Amino acid sequence: MEVYFDNNATTRVLPEVAEAMLPFYSQYYGNPSSIHRFGSDVGRRIEEARAQVAGLLGSADPVEVIFTSCGTEGDNAAIRGMLEARPDKRHIVTTKVEHSAVLGLCQHLEKKGYRITWLSVDQDGALDLAELSAALSDDTALVSIMWANNETGVIFPIEKIGALTRAKGIPLHVDAVQAAGRVPIDVSALPVDLLTISGHKLHAPKGVGALYVRRGITFPPFLIGGHQERNRRAGTENVAGIVGMGIAAEIALGRLSTDCVEVMKLRDRLEALLLASCPDSRVNGQNQERLPNTSNISFRYLEGESMLVLLDQQGICASTGSACTAGSAEPSHVLRAMNVPADWLQGAVRFSLSRFNTEAEVDYVNEQVPAIVQRLQGLSALGRLGNQRRPQDDRSAAGGR
Ligand code: PLP
Repeated sequence: MEVYFDNNATTRVLPEVAEAMLPFYSQYYGNPSSIHRFGSDVGRRIEEARAQVAGLLGSADPVEVIFTSCGTEGDNAAIRGMLEARPDKRHIVTTKVEHSAVLGLCQHLEKKGYRITWLSVDQDGALDLAELSAALSDDTALVSIMWANNETGVIFPIEKIGALTRAKGIPLHVDAVQAAGRVPIDVSALPVDLLTISGHKLHAPKGVGALYVRRGITFPPFLIGGHQERNRRAGTENVAGIVGMGIAAEIALGRLSTDCVEVMKLRDRLEALLLASCPDSRVNGQNQERLPNTSNISFRYLEGESMLVLLDQQGICASTGSACTAGSAEPSHVLRAMNVPADWLQGAVRFSLSRFNTEAEVDYVNEQVPAIVQRLQGLSALGRLGNQRRPQDDRSAAGGR
């Protein structure tokens, strides 16, 4: 059996999406900026896609949507744009658990002389809003905080965060790459100024994303050249990708409430089964509101990477954390920020599901995992010790199920 439980890394393109894209390679291949009809018809199709993406974001005005090439581009453009628009301000507030698209850029900016406040999280992955509030100052150019964590699925209270930034007149950028299409988003009801999404996390292809910029926010162009994207992002558009993202956004919006319930049922079943069948296991971030599709489970005393290899041999695709940091021997910065104890830290595996997964797949994973865990724990000296000490005491001491 082949089981794909790595949907936070990327998702399968919906057949409807692929089908809608194809004619834009072979039939409607005009340049949307051309004056003739062959091009301008394509331009109209881009505007339809813009409206579809605006719809997924609540009642956004389509002019507030800028198409990009990916989530990383949206995150970079938002942060750099706010720094350029507010050149007298040298301070950024973000969190220790951001995706590398924000984290890496802020580390880079720190080296360039910007002051960064790295907000911490508690052991459940929750932010301290008092810490955020205390960090905001007249020198703060922007706050950039993710909607949902890609590793644990933990959701941050964007409305409360936005209330604090609004009160101080500081722009708020939200990385909603993992949230879009999985939880409802309504920018018209939220104090959010910029928001990033990415096509390939919501069943559209790779190579397309979008950045929402609230009307009235001064936002300098971030690719300079032609007049595309209302002079904000020059460059001939990825038409097929944009059309695909529009369709995917429309489908995601229409199915949001049903998919959310169905996927959460599968995820909860997976967690309940694995926690019952693997004694030294715990869910990271379990006490927080989380994305319905994401489960980050630590299997004590073992190496997540070894687990992935053995899972892969059984046809199961999962990951230890972000696809962008895969291959690094470093334990997850997210779990470290959550103070996950050392013997639970390395053995974290992220299972991320989608509407394409089934109960039979969940049951198959549960058939395979316990033997793999037992084998790897048997190889680890600490694991052998743990097995002798078992059962219940240690698990509850470390946060339990
Ligand atoms: N932000 C988050 C939270 C992500 O999970 C990712 C990708 O995993 C990104 C940004 C980057 O998105 P992209 O892969 O489209 O560049």
